[in-house]
Amino acid sequence: MTDLLRARVLSRFTCLGDKCEDTCCRGWSMQVDAATLSHYKRDAPELLEAVEPAKETPWIMRKDAGGVCVKLEGGLCGIHKKYGETFLGDACYFYPRATRRLGDSIVMTATMSCPEIARLVLAGDDAAALEEVAVSRLPQELRDYLPPEFTQQQALVIHHAFLGAANDKKADGAEQNFLRIASASRSLERIDKKEWSAMAAYYLQHADARLPTAQPNINDPFNLLHALAGLIAASKKKPPERLAQTIAEMETMLAVSLDWEKILIHADEKSFPAYLKLQTLWKKHGEYYTPVLRRWLTMQLSLAMYPFGGFGRTLSERVTVIGVRLATFKLALMCGCGMYGAVLPQEAVVRIMQSLSRFMDHLADSAFSLRIYAETGWMEESRMRGLLE
Ligand code: SF4
Repeated sequence: MTDLLRARVLSRFTCLGDKCEDTCCRGWSMQVDAATLSHYKRDAPELLEAVEPAKETPWIMRKDAGGVCVKLEGGLCGIHKKYGETFLGDACYFYPRATRRLGDSIVMTATMSCPEIARLVLAGDDAAALEEVAVSRLPQELRDYLPPEFTQQQALVIHHAFLGAANDKKADGAEQNFLRIASASRSLERIDKKEWSAMAAYYLQHADARLPTAQPNINDPFNLLHALAGLIAASKKKPPERLAQTIAEMETMLAVSLDWEKILIHADEKSFPAYLKLQTLWKKHGEYYTPVLRRWLTMQLSLAMYPFGGFGRTLSERVTVIGVRLATFKLALMCGCGMYGAVLPQEAVVRIMQSLSRFMDHLADSAFSLRIYAETGWMEESRMRGLLE
């Protein structure tokens, strides 16, 4: 057994199996690691028919014409059922967990791209809280997120400070929590890393005084949807059903249409009034969604092992990506409210949250996202504040 720090959401998690509404066995290329491949060669050569070589990674689980893993049988994993979990590769065994090394510590958290994790994150404020547990298996490869400037204790203190800032219930909404995180991140970027452990909490506590004036742009909501569509188009994959539903709701409620061929968004004279109507609705009922946005933000930071990891090379890039994702999630919730009523059914919130995560949490490369966000101005702190307010 190995001791590690694990996000509390995982102590409540059980895979839904054949009851899952968006199984990880459909639509994904689940990697097969070298140790698992050797295991199959040695102990179950018949399983080699279920794997195939892939461009990005040496081997993946083979899928049928519908994009479903060939070993999914009646909604359950056929390998797990017949051979047991020791025959599962790391990707299949650990999903939706994300496991990283921080020096001598190992930290395990989870992605909201799994609907059950999304549901559990929504249920309480402590999903990302780390607790000590012992586990019997670890992934073959564990990336070490500990920068050489820190001890693991210092790094954990900094990570906790950011998680605490994301989950602060006293702030004026999740947007303010995010803006404090963005401001503190930029401040840390300007000082020597050796000073981070002394300064992270200070910058987070005093961020409000340093927030720039918001610079909103009336086109921002339409640009958010356009940016999402651009990223989906660049992935060269059709959006899965649940994401397609989330996007269709956004198109309807913003009175726009997406041209997937030319990657354009068509707005007309009805589009701005449609957004203003959503804004009015959100001003009245948006407070109800504050815990949802706050819990989402906290799990995003947990998944990124922020500020030591994330999507992007620098803290400014990583925090911009999280900010745009927060704004996209909020806009999708606003559109959902416009469509189904101010208090969305919980399953609609889960679907919006999970369908966006299933796409955004699994992008391979940040370069294209960051290019779009630079063009829209969202890399600037004042524009990001305008986008979120
Ligand atoms: S997405 Fe989550 S709940 Fe669904 S099958 Fe995969 S691990 Fe289980």
